[in-house]
Amino acid sequence: MRDTLGSDRPSYWQIAYTEAPTYAPLEDSQTVEVAVVGAGFTAVATAYYLRQLGIRVALVEKDRVGWGASGRNGGQLLTGWPSDMVDLRTRWGDETARALWDMALDAVHRVVSLVEREDIDAGLAQVGHLEACWSKDDVDRLRREWDWLQHQACYEPVEWWDARRVEERIRTSAYRGGLFDPGSYHIQPYRYVTGLAQAAARQGVLIFERSPVIDIRRRQSGYEVRTRQGVLRADEVVVATNAYLLPGSRWLESHILPVTSAVLVTEPLPADWPSSLPTVSDNKPNLSYFRLTPDRRLVFGGRARPTDRPGTAADPLYRDLVQLFPDLSGIGVYHRWEGPIAISWDRVPRMGRTPAGFWFAGGFTGHGVALTTEFGWILAHRVAGQEGRLPPFWAKTAAELDISRLPRLPLGRWTPRLVRFFMR
Ligand SMILES: Cc1cc2nc3c(=O)[nH]c(=O)nc-3n(C[C@H](O)[C@H](O)[C@H](O)COP(=O)(O)OP(=O)(O)OC[C@H]3O[C@@H](n4cnc5c(N)ncnc54)[C@H](O)[C@@H]3O)c2cc1C
Repeated sequence: MRDTLGSDRPSYWQIAYTEAPTYAPLEDSQTVEVAVVGAGFTAVATAYYLRQLGIRVALVEKDRVGWGASGRNGGQLLTGWPSDMVDLRTRWGDETARALWDMALDAVHRVVSLVEREDIDAGLAQVGHLEACWSKDDVDRLRREWDWLQHQACYEPVEWWDARRVEERIRTSAYRGGLFDPGSYHIQPYRYVTGLAQAAARQGVLIFERSPVIDIRRRQSGYEVRTRQGVLRADEVVVATNAYLLPGSRWLESHILPVTSAVLVTEPLPADWPSSLPTVSDNKPNLSYFRLTPDRRLVFGGRARPTDRPGTAADPLYRDLVQLFPDLSGIGVYHRWEGPIAISWDRVPRMGRTPAGFWFAGGFTGHGVALTTEFGWILAHRVAGQEGRLPPFWAKTAAELDISRLPRLPLGRWTPRLVRFFMR
């Protein structure tokens, strides 16, 4: 299967951790209760929690565990959603927005506690996150967000930083201020996803790598998931391939647009730079997000682009970096890579059963490092028929996030004009 989502070049996280365990391909016929397609955060978390609920489960991945977005992202483990909370409030009202906020906090805590419980060496650090303001509109928007978080969500730790404080902390005068949330972390994402897969395998989850799924067929009872060399028979199927839409999943295309985002890693920063930075993102036309590695390299990413020019998304990144940090002009680039992002057209991730009968979770719109594990946990309970054990916030958010009820694209598909509009 051709990988159309940018270059297949490994990420910095992947080359920095070559000891991840490998798993054999599926080469025969196996029967399980649930087959999970993919092996990113969503799939691995779903399989892990299904197994904890006593279900026999197999995971089937086209490349390696964590080879998609989960091993290629910016490593920012963030609270919140791809949309501002104020936008979610406008859409669904304060009560549901509060439930969604609680769910997103729960998502971060779940990753942190999993890393501790499974003893995963994932470089987790609570550095906080700064959403930086580029324009006057950003200042107004984020001050409204600050007000809502403090007064409606009762989330008091969040702080407003003026331009001077931002410059003191992150060494750029490019921003007019920003909203700082101390509850966010950074993480080595590839170590997290491969460590969680190892924990799942220890509990009895079957994992097959280098086994692209080419077909999913409904049978009289259950499903048949076919790879080139093997077949999985299962009562239920979970598709967790996110931006990689499986052949024949046109219905999902009316919810999700696959795009490519690029990241670069610099050589270690000069000695006068701080040894710790919050993770940062902004909303300027080219969009930038960055963080520091433990050996003081800057991991710097930018706005996603349509996938029709693989290998080119990294082009403007260095220029953007130097625009924000003129004193880093000339710093060497150690590595760069690209990764696939699944944008849901209304910026709301989805989960639930599709008309084809399989379960799905995806569309995290570049904000999935924390939410994917939470979605996996919830999906596992739904697939196992144990929704009754989920917390009260889930009852409020269930309908809003269910793919069968969330609106599809008005025209049912992405037109080139719509893509250009979303990629502005
Ligand atoms: C460059 C970049 C930077 C990002 N930065 C951040 C960030 O800092 N913070 C944040 O919160 N989010 C970020 N994200 C988003 C986040 O990484 C994703 O939301 C998350 O990883 C999605 O996980 P997933 O498991 O749903 O998908 P993926 O990790 O993409 O997993 C899907 C898996 O399915 C497999 N697959 C595909 N087709 C088949 C097939 N036919 N058969 C079998 N397997 C198949 C793929 O190989 C892949 O392993 C970023 C994403 C990118 C690309």
